[in-house]
Amino acid sequence: CGIVGYVGPDSSGKALEVVMDGLTRLEYRGYDSAGVALVGDGEIVGAKRAGKLTNLTSALAEQPLPNTTTAIGHTRWATHGGPTNENAHPHRGGTDRKLALVHNGIIENFHSLRKQLLAEGVEFSSETDTEVVAHLVSRAYDQAGDLTDAMREVVNTLHGAFTLLAVHADQPDRVVGARRNSPLVVGLGEGENFLGSDVAAFIGYTRHALELGQDQIVTITPDSYTVINFDGTPSDGKAYEVTWDAAA
Ligand code: GLU
Repeated sequence: CGIVGYVGPDSSGKALEVVMDGLTRLEYRGYDSAGVALVGDGEIVGAKRAGKLTNLTSALAEQPLPNTTTAIGHTRWATHGGPTNENAHPHRGGTDRKLALVHNGIIENFHSLRKQLLAEGVEFSSETDTEVVAHLVSRAYDQAGDLTDAMREVVNTLHGAFTLLAVHADQPDRVVGARRNSPLVVGLGEGENFLGSDVAAFIGYTRHALELGQDQIVTITPDSYTVINFDGTPSDGKAYEVTWDAAA
């Protein structure tokens, strides 16, 4: 339902703060659960909880959290699987659990993809359509060694509507996003960049935005962004200034 992604400079360590602020600003959309994933030192940590954002905040307060530069967050409006902690996003992929992914929308062909993965011995920890994508991107990453390449390979096998964000513990300086029939906007900062399902996600930090087209993938690092189409050809995206008062 609501999506936020952030990557900032080494010194800031403010990734969690930015993502929680974004989720709070996206609350108006309605949700039944929420979660975040932080990219730590070679591993991903975070929490996800059914119910209000305060449940997530309490869960995060119960564990030591690394000072991280990269994070993704999600507020969920359940379509596949009830509103439980397990079904909340982010979903993890890989036996090493080094990949985390959030999703807005519906993966229409998730059933056949899930059956295939189950037959190959993949273990699922939720009932969502989303977890299928987390496992697929993780497997593609293990082959490709690059999160953008892995995302591109997988989105071309998916049907339906989706905004996806993924992070991987072995590429801690980036967030990769993809969109089809579902919104995703890039927020451009100084030495930091943002992704959101809505500009409200990052309006507290920047008004420089980049609109993506249909079937596009964006990769953000602290000081760069790259946009490609699902077929791999490069694209520029369309830069604009957010003028309306979304900060209210
Ligand atoms: N289909 C996904 C789920 O049920 C995403 C729902 C959403 O857009 O929040 O988990």
